[in-house]
Amino acid sequence: MSVDSHEMHPSRWGDPAAAGPLPDSARGLIELAFGLDDRPAVEHPSVPPGRLDPRLLDGLRDLIGAEHVLTDDETRRLRTRGKSTPDLLRARAGELDDAPDAVVRPGDHDDVAAVLAFAVEHDLAVVPFGGGTCVTGGLAATREGYAGVLSLDLVRMKRLLDVDEVSMTATLEPGLRGPEAEALLAEHGLMLGHFPQSFEYASIGGFAATRSSGQSSAGYGRFDSMVVRLTAATPTGRLDLGAAPASAAGPDLRQLLLGSEGVFGVITAVTVRVRHLPETTVYDGWRWPSFAEGAAAMRTLAQAGLLPTVIRLSDEAETAINLARPDEIGSEGAAGCLMIAGHEGPPAAVAARRSAIGAVLAGLGGTDLGEEPGRSWVEGRFRAPYLRDSMLDVGVLVETLETATWWSNLDRLYTGVKAALEQELGEGTIVLCHISHVYETGCSLYFTVAAKEGEDPLAQWDAAKTAASEAIAAAGATITHHHAIGTDHKRWYGQEIGDRGVAILRAVKAELDPTGILNPGVLIP
Ligand SMILES: Cc1cc2nc3c(=O)[nH]c(=O)nc-3n(C[C@H](O)[C@H](O)[C@H](O)COP(=O)(O)OP(=O)(O)OC[C@H]3O[C@@H](n4cnc5c(N)ncnc54)[C@H](O)[C@@H]3O)c2cc1C
Repeated sequence: MSVDSHEMHPSRWGDPAAAGPLPDSARGLIELAFGLDDRPAVEHPSVPPGRLDPRLLDGLRDLIGAEHVLTDDETRRLRTRGKSTPDLLRARAGELDDAPDAVVRPGDHDDVAAVLAFAVEHDLAVVPFGGGTCVTGGLAATREGYAGVLSLDLVRMKRLLDVDEVSMTATLEPGLRGPEAEALLAEHGLMLGHFPQSFEYASIGGFAATRSSGQSSAGYGRFDSMVVRLTAATPTGRLDLGAAPASAAGPDLRQLLLGSEGVFGVITAVTVRVRHLPETTVYDGWRWPSFAEGAAAMRTLAQAGLLPTVIRLSDEAETAINLARPDEIGSEGAAGCLMIAGHEGPPAAVAARRSAIGAVLAGLGGTDLGEEPGRSWVEGRFRAPYLRDSMLDVGVLVETLETATWWSNLDRLYTGVKAALEQELGEGTIVLCHISHVYETGCSLYFTVAAKEGEDPLAQWDAAKTAASEAIAAAGATITHHHAIGTDHKRWYGQEIGDRGVAILRAVKAELDPTGILNPGVLIP
């Protein structure tokens, strides 16, 4: 039934062929830290029957073709919610109550516009669906007050529409997943360079709609900084935004759609700036005596305009866990904090930058660990989500959260969030952290939390997430650097932008989607 063989199980991450039980090395450590408590998942959670009036389904079939309007259980199951740990816990428990009533698959911008007009006429909620990797509840729209819920699956919109090798831009349709977009660009010797950990499944439209940030952001920028032009279908008409590489023509309206999470319109094309495929890639490891010293070194590089393509720094706990093999714990190899500094580009430029950065890092007290840590980071960079599933299987609750702040506020944020999580989840909780993205003025912190699952893991995580979010707000940081708002962060988003900010969002919503069919309940507090 699916036009996309690249599907994930509703309660697991990734390619089933790449998944597996806990590796033996990790199993020993996890047993030591938490004990093992088998928590089998419901393999085929059922979805409630679709509730759409058959006449409405016929109307949709007339619009975009019968084969593109799907109501079977399997397709609806695969379009239910995203991939946060609470999403997975619910699916593992067999609860998929908010499955869409139907999945519609438009083929182009005009199809999207036609579906939106139909939804307005018949009061149907519409949830744009890209890769389904959302971790903030952005795919769980409110059902109340609507005649039904449609998942607007962009999986058929996968074309590379244009390449401008003079301006170095490419126009992509929203349904392209990360690897598909890179493969199409690679045919022209080009690349986008956007590699979030969800790269293998997340889509171009999703990157734009959530203002995603990838692992190479130091070199290639955040996704929103790559977008030079975009097209969106809204219930009140088409938007084409971005007329030049830079402009002083009023506020930048592209920013209204970037990060709008499907509540203002459906992004149907984005033009992004592209780069030549790198001839050389090399990733070095550096060890720092402490997280604070490593962070100070990152700040020095960022403020000197001397950043590598990839730069990340694990705190002491994350370094120890990542390097941990039972025979290595406590040895010199596991001490301190690991930084990865990766360089991509033409050989001469890479050599020059690598040597300049190396000199700064060595001068600041870093120890060059060579290429081995970088190689193992590259090999394992997309594996962590599989490990989360294996840990949930043995009763260990694992989730991540992220935020960002100014350099001068980093320590307050780091210690505040860590303490809140440890206090809420209790003794034995493991909180790991790394700096994932850096700027001249500050950086993002990415936390990974593991705790023994209690009786009600959903309530357990909800309490921990609330405590962490309160700590983020108390430190004056942002509730999200790249995971976006969805439904989970709305409360703190409202505090962050204030009442006037919320009123502006509502005014834009009233202009573009006056009957509120697009992703109701998402983003706007
Ligand atoms: C294991 C894992 C790792 C992750 N790592 C990262 C990371 O490194 N960096 C990062 O930034 N994020 C990360 N995320 C979060 C997530 O992958 C990103 O938010 C991603 O950008 C979402 O893309 P998607 O195509 O999956 O969107 P979806 O999950 O399908 O949708 C996300 C939101 O955008 C809306 N939407 C989707 N497509 C469109 C469109 N064309 N027009 C309008 N609205 C649309 C949806 O309705 C929804 O509200 C991770 C998630 C997981 C599960």
